[in-house]
Amino acid sequence: MKRILLIATGGTIASKRGQKGLKPLLSSEELLTYVPSVKEFCHTETLQLFNLDSTNIQPMHWLAIAQAVEKNYETYDGFVICHGTDTMAYSAAALSYLIQNSPKPIVITGSQKPIDLEITDARTNLSDSLRFASCDRAYGVNLVFDGKVIAGTRAKKERTKSYNAFSSINFPYIASIQEEHILFYLDDKKLLCEPLTFYHEFNSSVGLLKLIPSMDAAVLDYMAEHYDGVIIESFGVGGLPNYETCGYYSAVKKWISQGKTVVMTTQVTNEGSNMSVYEVGRTIKYEFGLLESYDMTLEAAVTKLMWILGQTKERERVKQLFYQTVNRDILWKA
Ligand code: ASP
Repeated sequence: MKRILLIATGGTIASKRGQKGLKPLLSSEELLTYVPSVKEFCHTETLQLFNLDSTNIQPMHWLAIAQAVEKNYETYDGFVICHGTDTMAYSAAALSYLIQNSPKPIVITGSQKPIDLEITDARTNLSDSLRFASCDRAYGVNLVFDGKVIAGTRAKKERTKSYNAFSSINFPYIASIQEEHILFYLDDKKLLCEPLTFYHEFNSSVGLLKLIPSMDAAVLDYMAEHYDGVIIESFGVGGLPNYETCGYYSAVKKWISQGKTVVMTTQVTNEGSNMSVYEVGRTIKYEFGLLESYDMTLEAAVTKLMWILGQTKERERVKQLFYQTVNRDILWKA
């Protein structure tokens, strides 16, 4: 029988109703008691790392989760992390960078309703996750939610209330889970050949600037001064306004030449960026050396940059790592 470690971190799944609203209170052991039938296919042990609403999750928590997996890696066949849904896509992407090429499955899950309610998605999500983590064909970091398995770097929370909260962006679902059956759409574990690697550094000095029409370029100056990396979430396939005194262009040029990393991504969820198309994108990309996220999700771009800047600030190396595929995060090659 497979041995699985259930790591609890909080979220709605573990929440109870208090006077000030929902708050994570249930322990990892208590969560497990709501899915007694999983004993038929796995032996589960539990670990309570923290009990947080995922609004409060930060890079130090991603490092703690990755360290817990690393410490227990030899003892268990798979790992399930219970987590709040609000920042789950960031955590799934962060873990994809911190734990690379894992032949054992690492599943992150949660729910839209607390597990102790009569009508809830929590029990299904938790037992699906334990089932997927017990499957020989599963590997790497994936998010399991509402019967779907999504690569850790491709998930996005697209619905605040419905059970089908998460979508896989610019990439197919890995599998679906229907009762006790796992239907694989991507069954490629045999192609895994790189060695398992754990990373232990993240640089959280990464900021995100979402553009709106007419925004003052001084905001970019402010951000680049305060962060090692700035991601600009622009419009369409990606460009920067060149009205008035071209403040954005001079800010990008100045900060990149001073060693900051500037990445362009798009506010449009699907299909990604391509700055080569329009003059407003092409010039800055080729003249100033901006990076672009192409088909990566925002969550992947943010956490990937934090992972990269935790290792190096050398411009060519940053570029090389940013465009290197990790856990299916980017298909488009620059
Ligand atoms: N606010 C909760 C959290 O992210 C929402 C959830 O878990 O669904 O922890």
